[in-house]
Amino acid sequence: MTFFEEVQSDRIERLKQLYRLIRRYKQVDISRIKELMDLKHATCVRLIEELLQYQLIQESGVGVSSGGRKPKLYSINPRKAYLIGIELSNLYTTVLLMDLELNILEERKLKMGEVFIPEIVFEFIIQSIQQLLASNELQRNQLVGVGIGILTRIDDSTGRIKKREYSAFKEWSDIDIQGQLAEKLGLPVVVHSATNLAALVEYRKNYWNEEENLLFVANDLIIRSASMINGHMLYKNSEMTESFGHMTVDLQGEKCFCGMYGCLDTISSLPAIRTEIIKRVKMGYSSSLTEAFESIDDINYYHILQGIEEQDQLCLDVVDRASYYLGIGLSNLILQLRPKTVIIGGTLGSRSIVVTKVKEVVQERLEYFTEIKYEIKSASSSFNTVAQGAGCMVLDLEIGETIF
Ligand SMILES: [Zn+2]
Repeated sequence: MTFFEEVQSDRIERLKQLYRLIRRYKQVDISRIKELMDLKHATCVRLIEELLQYQLIQESGVGVSSGGRKPKLYSINPRKAYLIGIELSNLYTTVLLMDLELNILEERKLKMGEVFIPEIVFEFIIQSIQQLLASNELQRNQLVGVGIGILTRIDDSTGRIKKREYSAFKEWSDIDIQGQLAEKLGLPVVVHSATNLAALVEYRKNYWNEEENLLFVANDLIIRSASMINGHMLYKNSEMTESFGHMTVDLQGEKCFCGMYGCLDTISSLPAIRTEIIKRVKMGYSSSLTEAFESIDDINYYHILQGIEEQDQLCLDVVDRASYYLGIGLSNLILQLRPKTVIIGGTLGSRSIVVTKVKEVVQERLEYFTEIKYEIKSASSSFNTVAQGAGCMVLDLEIGETIF
């Protein structure tokens, strides 16, 4: 489905502009629209009528009167069409069905094993979309498209997964995920960097009308960042989102898979935390994690996240150290980029134990620079954000509002 295809109008770009505005401000009356779009009253009425006629927008109550009758308020019609947002990581594949306000109507998840095979994941995605449509009594032509966020390097022009030796996506090298799925599904498919998509949804939901200079960092399997300046992402490229993880924070540190030593990824990422926990248990430290396993080498990331929840002291200590170094890296980034708002997200990064420590370290290290104003916040949610961002990207592209 092309979202605006049924609108037969030479004013389509203006209609899209109006739709974007109503989406952005959620609820607006005609005088606000006239002011923001610099339109005459009659033109404005005609455009609103047209969007109403095609049910792209709806009346949603009345606003405050400035003397006469209370003005009608307009908002987008969230059920005019639907979005599919997918996250592909080596922890889970998540498939979401969303309305146009990015509310999640239903989700399906596939837990990944050590090896995750493209064919199995593709099959899961295709079946999930069919089931999500059926259980919500929707037809395929009510979908605007499918967005996919993926936690590895992709060729941004073709959507193909780049070949890399140290990637969890080794089995997926050079797969044309965008083209293959589009053909199997008969729907438009677009693939993008998971980090940028998590940042996108955080921005759209919480900062769109307030802040245009954001730094988003995520900590889970690798450490990533996305920087937004004046409402646009500084880098579209998926490779650039990984670069923060390779900032040197310890000259005497461990060797990183990039070939250098002491990169942030070697201390603060989930794999680094796992390695450190195993090392300490072998040195004689006790942990509740050892009770469930014959060998500590068997622990995985889920166990570590559970260990944090259950306040296992060894897990807490290792995560505290990891967060200390993340704070050092983040201080360096803030010194360079001067973002007003810093958001920490990711499966591990958004946990309060991480955010509290990082804030403490950054505050201490930047105390000397009184002119640098910043605020560090936890991501509003780390759950499903990449998949939600992927759905958001599909709508953004359809109505010409991309920030990449
Ligand atoms: Zn590195």
